[in-house]
Amino acid sequence: MTSIDANLQAVRERIAAACAAAGRDVASVTLLAVSKNWPADAVRAAVAAGQRAFAESYVQEAVAKIASLNDPGDRGDCGLEWHFIGPLQSNKTRTVAESFDWVHSVERLKIAERLSAQRPAGMAPLNICIQINVSGEESKSGCAPEAAPALAQAVAALPRLRLRGLMAIPEPTTDVALARRRFATLSQLLGNLNNLNTTNLPHVVPALDTLSMGMSHDLEAAIMEGATIVRVGTAIFGERDYA
Ligand SMILES: *Cc1c(COP(=O)(O)O)cnc(C)c1O
Repeated sequence: MTSIDANLQAVRERIAAACAAAGRDVASVTLLAVSKNWPADAVRAAVAAGQRAFAESYVQEAVAKIASLNDPGDRGDCGLEWHFIGPLQSNKTRTVAESFDWVHSVERLKIAERLSAQRPAGMAPLNICIQINVSGEESKSGCAPEAAPALAQAVAALPRLRLRGLMAIPEPTTDVALARRRFATLSQLLGNLNNLNTTNLPHVVPALDTLSMGMSHDLEAAIMEGATIVRVGTAIFGERDYA
Protein backbone atom coordinates (compact mmCIF):
# COMPACT_ATOMS: atom_id res chain seq x y z
CA MET A 1 0.00 0.00 0.00
CA THR A 2 1.37 3.42 -0.96
CA SER A 3 1.50 6.09 1.72
CA ILE A 4 -1.14 8.14 -0.12
CA ASP A 5 -3.40 5.12 0.08
CA ALA A 6 -2.74 4.72 3.82
CA ASN A 7 -3.06 8.46 4.44
CA LEU A 8 -6.40 8.59 2.63
CA GLN A 9 -7.68 5.75 4.73
CA ALA A 10 -6.57 7.53 7.89
CA VAL A 11 -8.31 10.74 6.81
CA ARG A 12 -11.50 8.84 5.99
CA GLU A 13 -11.35 7.34 9.47
CA ARG A 14 -10.94 10.79 11.03
CA ILE A 15 -13.97 12.01 9.07
CA ALA A 16 -16.01 8.99 10.13
CA ALA A 17 -15.05 9.46 13.80
CA ALA A 18 -15.90 13.18 13.67
CA CYS A 19 -19.25 12.43 12.04
CA ALA A 20 -20.00 9.86 14.72
CA ALA A 21 -19.10 12.39 17.44
CA ALA A 22 -21.30 15.01 15.79
CA GLY A 23 -24.19 12.58 15.26
CA ARG A 24 -23.95 13.08 11.51
CA ASP A 25 -24.19 10.69 8.58
CA VAL A 26 -20.69 10.12 7.14
CA ALA A 27 -22.19 10.50 3.67
CA SER A 28 -22.96 14.15 4.48
CA VAL A 29 -19.24 15.08 4.30
CA THR A 30 -17.27 15.08 1.04
CA LEU A 31 -13.50 14.75 1.17
CA LEU A 32 -11.74 17.07 -1.24
CA ALA A 33 -8.08 16.09 -1.85
CA VAL A 34 -6.01 19.27 -2.20
CA SER A 35 -3.33 18.31 -4.74
CA LYS A 36 -1.71 21.74 -5.22
CA ASN A 37 2.09 21.52 -5.44
CA TRP A 38 1.87 17.77 -6.11
CA PRO A 39 2.42 16.19 -9.54
CA ALA A 40 -0.19 14.36 -11.59
CA ASP A 41 1.26 11.05 -10.35
CA ALA A 42 0.23 11.91 -6.80
CA VAL A 43 -3.32 12.46 -8.07
CA ARG A 44 -3.15 9.11 -9.89
CA ALA A 45 -2.14 7.39 -6.66
CA ALA A 46 -5.11 8.96 -4.87
CA VAL A 47 -7.44 7.98 -7.73
CA ALA A 48 -6.16 4.41 -7.45
CA ALA A 49 -7.09 4.58 -3.76
CA GLY A 50 -10.64 5.60 -4.63
CA GLN A 51 -10.48 9.41 -4.39
CA ARG A 52 -12.51 11.33 -7.00
CA ALA A 53 -12.68 15.01 -5.98
CA PHE A 54 -9.52 17.14 -6.17
CA ALA A 55 -8.77 20.78 -5.44
CA GLU A 56 -6.15 23.12 -6.85
CA SER A 57 -5.07 26.68 -5.99
CA TYR A 58 -2.86 27.76 -8.88
CA VAL A 59 -4.45 28.01 -12.32
CA GLN A 60 -1.42 27.24 -14.52
CA GLU A 61 -0.32 24.27 -12.47
CA ALA A 62 -3.86 22.96 -12.31
CA VAL A 63 -4.68 23.05 -16.03
CA ALA A 64 -1.50 21.14 -16.90
CA LYS A 65 -2.40 18.49 -14.32
CA ILE A 66 -6.03 18.26 -15.42
CA ALA A 67 -4.94 17.92 -19.07
CA SER A 68 -2.51 15.17 -18.13
CA LEU A 69 -5.22 13.26 -16.27
CA ASN A 70 -7.73 13.82 -19.08
CA ASP A 71 -5.38 12.39 -21.71
CA PRO A 72 -7.34 9.62 -23.46
CA GLY A 73 -4.36 7.28 -23.03
CA ASP A 74 -4.37 7.87 -19.30
CA ARG A 75 -6.61 5.73 -17.12
CA GLY A 76 -6.46 8.34 -14.36
CA ASP A 77 -9.58 10.15 -15.49
CA CYS A 78 -12.49 8.15 -14.19
CA GLY A 79 -14.98 10.93 -13.70
CA LEU A 80 -12.75 13.15 -11.61
CA GLU A 81 -14.20 16.34 -10.14
CA TRP A 82 -12.00 19.47 -10.02
CA HIS A 83 -12.45 22.30 -7.51
CA PHE A 84 -10.66 25.64 -7.67
CA ILE A 85 -9.91 26.98 -4.17
CA GLY A 86 -7.19 29.61 -4.69
CA PRO A 87 -7.23 33.38 -5.15
CA LEU A 88 -8.74 34.16 -8.55
CA GLN A 89 -7.75 37.15 -10.70
CA SER A 90 -9.80 38.47 -13.63
CA ASN A 91 -7.28 37.36 -16.25
CA LYS A 92 -7.58 33.70 -15.13
CA THR A 93 -11.35 33.36 -14.96
CA ARG A 94 -11.74 31.98 -18.51
CA THR A 95 -9.31 29.12 -17.90
CA VAL A 96 -11.04 28.31 -14.61
CA ALA A 97 -14.52 28.49 -16.19
CA GLU A 98 -13.38 26.03 -18.89
CA SER A 99 -11.54 23.57 -16.67
CA PHE A 100 -13.22 23.24 -13.28
CA ASP A 101 -16.47 21.89 -11.83
CA TRP A 102 -16.46 24.11 -8.75
CA VAL A 103 -14.97 27.42 -7.59
CA HIS A 104 -14.87 27.94 -3.79
CA SER A 105 -13.10 31.29 -3.72
CA VAL A 106 -15.55 33.80 -5.20
CA GLU A 107 -15.40 36.97 -3.10
CA ARG A 108 -16.60 39.68 -5.48
CA LEU A 109 -19.29 40.03 -8.12
CA LYS A 110 -17.00 40.95 -11.00
CA ILE A 111 -15.24 37.59 -10.83
CA ALA A 112 -18.57 35.75 -10.68
CA GLU A 113 -19.88 37.68 -13.70
CA ARG A 114 -16.82 36.74 -15.72
CA LEU A 115 -17.06 33.08 -14.71
CA SER A 116 -20.71 32.99 -15.76
CA ALA A 117 -20.06 34.72 -19.09
CA GLN A 118 -17.09 32.46 -19.84
CA ARG A 119 -18.57 29.11 -18.77
CA PRO A 120 -18.81 27.08 -22.02
CA ALA A 121 -22.37 26.37 -23.17
CA GLY A 122 -21.78 22.62 -23.41
CA MET A 123 -20.79 22.29 -19.77
CA ALA A 124 -22.98 22.05 -16.67
CA PRO A 125 -23.31 25.29 -14.67
CA LEU A 126 -20.23 26.02 -12.57
CA ASN A 127 -20.79 25.28 -8.87
CA ILE A 128 -19.89 28.28 -6.71
CA CYS A 129 -19.10 28.93 -3.07
CA ILE A 130 -18.66 32.46 -1.79
CA GLN A 131 -15.54 32.80 0.32
CA ILE A 132 -16.23 34.57 3.60
CA ASN A 133 -13.72 36.31 5.83
CA VAL A 134 -14.71 34.87 9.22
CA SER A 135 -11.57 36.07 10.99
CA GLY A 136 -12.00 39.83 10.58
CA GLU A 137 -8.70 41.66 10.37
CA GLU A 138 -6.74 38.45 10.82
CA SER A 139 -7.44 37.43 7.23
CA LYS A 140 -7.12 39.31 3.97
CA SER A 141 -9.31 37.24 1.70
CA GLY A 142 -13.02 36.68 1.58
CA CYS A 143 -16.17 38.76 1.49
CA ALA A 144 -17.20 40.43 4.79
CA PRO A 145 -20.09 38.53 6.42
CA GLU A 146 -22.32 41.65 6.25
CA ALA A 147 -21.82 41.82 2.48
CA ALA A 148 -22.67 38.16 1.90
CA PRO A 149 -26.48 38.41 1.39
CA ALA A 150 -26.20 40.97 -1.41
CA LEU A 151 -23.35 39.10 -3.10
CA ALA A 152 -25.19 35.78 -2.79
CA GLN A 153 -28.28 37.23 -4.37
CA ALA A 154 -26.31 38.71 -7.26
CA VAL A 155 -24.33 35.52 -7.86
CA ALA A 156 -27.47 33.39 -7.74
CA ALA A 157 -28.95 35.45 -10.56
CA LEU A 158 -26.09 34.63 -12.96
CA PRO A 159 -27.19 32.11 -15.57
CA ARG A 160 -24.16 29.85 -15.92
CA LEU A 161 -23.38 29.56 -12.22
CA ARG A 162 -25.00 27.48 -9.51
CA LEU A 163 -24.52 29.01 -6.08
CA ARG A 164 -24.02 26.13 -3.63
CA GLY A 165 -22.84 27.74 -0.40
CA LEU A 166 -19.98 29.28 1.54
CA MET A 167 -16.29 28.66 2.08
CA ALA A 168 -13.87 29.95 4.72
CA ILE A 169 -10.22 29.66 5.67
CA PRO A 170 -10.05 30.84 9.30
CA GLU A 171 -6.73 32.14 10.64
CA PRO A 172 -4.38 29.33 11.69
CA THR A 173 -4.79 28.52 15.38
CA THR A 174 -4.17 25.71 17.83
CA ASP A 175 -7.16 26.94 19.87
CA VAL A 176 -9.91 24.44 19.05
CA ALA A 177 -12.60 26.59 20.68
CA LEU A 178 -11.63 29.54 18.47
CA ALA A 179 -11.59 27.33 15.37
CA ARG A 180 -15.07 26.12 16.22
CA ARG A 181 -16.33 29.68 16.70
CA ARG A 182 -15.05 30.62 13.24
CA PHE A 183 -16.69 27.58 11.66
CA ALA A 184 -19.90 28.28 13.59
CA THR A 185 -19.91 31.81 12.17
CA LEU A 186 -19.86 30.40 8.64
CA SER A 187 -22.54 27.86 9.46
CA GLN A 188 -24.83 30.54 10.94
CA LEU A 189 -24.33 32.72 7.90
CA LEU A 190 -25.40 29.88 5.63
CA GLY A 191 -28.47 29.41 7.81
CA ASN A 192 -29.26 33.12 7.57
CA LEU A 193 -28.98 33.05 3.77
CA ASN A 194 -31.29 30.06 3.58
CA ASN A 195 -33.78 31.86 5.83
CA LEU A 196 -33.72 34.99 3.69
CA ASN A 197 -34.42 32.67 0.88
CA THR A 198 -37.70 31.45 2.22
CA THR A 199 -38.85 34.89 3.31
CA ASN A 200 -38.27 38.14 1.52
CA LEU A 201 -35.61 37.44 -1.09
CA PRO A 202 -37.15 34.93 -3.49
CA HIS A 203 -34.31 35.35 -5.93
CA VAL A 204 -31.49 34.29 -3.68
CA VAL A 205 -31.32 30.62 -4.62
CA PRO A 206 -32.60 27.17 -4.20
CA ALA A 207 -31.43 26.03 -0.77
CA LEU A 208 -27.70 26.38 -0.25
CA ASP A 209 -26.31 22.97 0.68
CA THR A 210 -22.55 23.49 0.99
CA LEU A 211 -20.24 24.54 3.81
CA SER A 212 -16.66 24.21 2.59
CA MET A 213 -14.53 24.39 5.72
CA GLY A 214 -11.88 22.38 7.57
CA MET A 215 -8.37 21.35 6.49
CA SER A 216 -5.80 18.78 7.63
CA HIS A 217 -5.40 20.20 11.13
CA ASP A 218 -8.97 21.19 11.95
CA LEU A 219 -11.38 19.00 9.97
CA GLU A 220 -12.90 17.58 13.17
CA ALA A 221 -13.85 21.05 14.45
CA ALA A 222 -15.31 21.91 11.05
CA ILE A 223 -17.39 18.73 10.93
CA MET A 224 -18.70 19.43 14.44
CA GLU A 225 -19.97 22.79 13.10
CA GLY A 226 -21.57 21.38 9.96
CA ALA A 227 -18.92 21.19 7.22
CA THR A 228 -20.17 19.37 4.13
CA ILE A 229 -16.85 19.60 2.26
CA VAL A 230 -13.46 19.32 3.97
CA ARG A 231 -10.38 20.35 1.96
CA VAL A 232 -7.42 18.19 2.92
CA GLY A 233 -3.94 18.37 1.44
CA THR A 234 -1.08 17.68 3.85
CA ALA A 235 -2.74 14.77 5.66
CA ILE A 236 -3.15 12.98 2.32
CA PHE A 237 -0.11 13.92 0.26
CA GLY A 238 2.42 15.01 2.91
CA GLU A 239 4.08 18.36 3.58
CA ARG A 240 4.16 20.60 0.51
CA ASP A 241 7.57 21.63 -0.81
CA TYR A 242 7.35 25.22 -2.06
CA ALA A 243 11.03 25.34 -3.06
C1 LIG B 1 -3.82 24.38 0.69
C2 LIG B 1 -5.24 24.54 1.05
C3 LIG B 1 -5.92 23.55 1.78
C4 LIG B 1 -5.28 22.29 2.30
O1 LIG B 1 -4.53 22.58 3.45
P1 LIG B 1 -3.84 21.41 4.30
O2 LIG B 1 -3.48 22.06 5.57
O3 LIG B 1 -2.64 20.96 3.52
O4 LIG B 1 -4.82 20.32 4.47
C5 LIG B 1 -7.28 23.76 2.02
N1 LIG B 1 -7.92 24.86 1.58
C6 LIG B 1 -7.29 25.83 0.89
C7 LIG B 1 -8.06 27.01 0.44
C8 LIG B 1 -5.93 25.71 0.61
O5 LIG B 1 -5.33 26.69 -0.07
